[in-house]
Amino acid sequence: MKTYSIAAIPGDGIGTEVVACGLQVLDAIAKRDGSFKFKFDHFDWGGEYYKKHGRMMPVDGRDQIRKHDAILFGSAGHPEIPDHITLWGLRLAICQPFDQYANVRPTRVLPGITSPLRNVKDKELDWVIVRENSEGEYAGVGGRVHQGSPLEAATDVAMFTRPGVERIMRFAFRLAQSRPRKHLTVVTKSNAQRHAMVMWDEIATEVAAGFKDVTWDKMLVDAMTVRMVMRPETLDTIVATNLHADILSDLAAALAGSLGIAPTANLNPERKFPSMFEPIHGSAFDIMGKGVANPIGTFWSAVMMLDHVGERVAAGRLMRAIERVTADKRLHTPDLGGTARTADVTAAVVDAIHGANA
Ligand code: NAD
Ligand code: MN
Repeated sequence: MKTYSIAAIPGDGIGTEVVACGLQVLDAIAKRDGSFKFKFDHFDWGGEYYKKHGRMMPVDGRDQIRKHDAILFGSAGHPEIPDHITLWGLRLAICQPFDQYANVRPTRVLPGITSPLRNVKDKELDWVIVRENSEGEYAGVGGRVHQGSPLEAATDVAMFTRPGVERIMRFAFRLAQSRPRKHLTVVTKSNAQRHAMVMWDEIATEVAAGFKDVTWDKMLVDAMTVRMVMRPETLDTIVATNLHADILSDLAAALAGSLGIAPTANLNPERKFPSMFEPIHGSAFDIMGKGVANPIGTFWSAVMMLDHVGERVAAGRLMRAIERVTADKRLHTPDLGGTARTADVTAAVVDAIHGANA
């Protein structure tokens, strides 16, 4: 029997709650399929680890997970530790060296869930946002000088390389090509940011020449927020920089009903390193420990993980199980306006996996 080795890194806050549920659901889907299983290795990296060891993960942490088939991640973020330390010490410390440059974020209004947009009909909001995940505004270039003096100065330099932009653009065009609408929207801010964003536009035009069957258009990021809200049906696949897509994908998640249902895949498309799958939300300090976190974002991320390792049938089955559960409003957690608890949703998805028409 095929065995996939999965590194589970729950991190902190509700990350620990939803990843535990994600593993339960993955076990259930493997059992239902019968042709493969999972071997989970657990890593207790994150804020609590930091408090004991002074770092978010061990020095050789990446070597411990380099050979795994995939990583299931929860959230980096601890109430007692500054956010830039937790983020750079764990999540970005994995994404960047493992060259997970394509961050893929699907958004759909799932059955039973109401979009906050008036009148949005089924299928009118069906997007995939591709976020450049290795450079740009989050390249980590910059510095601070004269701290504590009136001369204090700080820079965050957005760094874009031609190969970095070309590869994300090709990835986005290829993804758009694989979807029924074959349409890509390229987002920039090339009016105000007149160097790198202009290069981004030029590279989009060059790459587009190789994808004649894909239609594409350009948007400035501020106008893009308006289009997402006012004309959601005109969008399909979207590509944007690290910062822009970070923001747009939170908006997309909210428009689809809740941040708690949104999934993401951090892909190393060349498969030189493991890819990492995680809900897009963070540690949610306001609800952690209460047992009410929505686990759907993690389950949908598990669907993307199954797809990535090549278990397409199981991926489809898990997605259908998720949709059967969201269709039942009694199984909505408080973020969706319901009263269900994390454990109720998980049990219902496991039941649906084993159900008669699963
Ligand atoms: P957040 O995503 O943790 O929470 C934002 C709001 O959404 C909160 O009100 C929260 O209760 C709600 N929410 C989020 N996920 C939910 C879920 N699954 N079910 C129900 N409600 C949910 O964002 P934040 O408050 O800006 O950040 C908190 C911490 O998480 C910070 O330390 C931040 O740096 C970190 N963070 C980490 C990641 C990551 O690791 N990928 C992403 C975002 C934020
Ligand atoms: Mn984000």
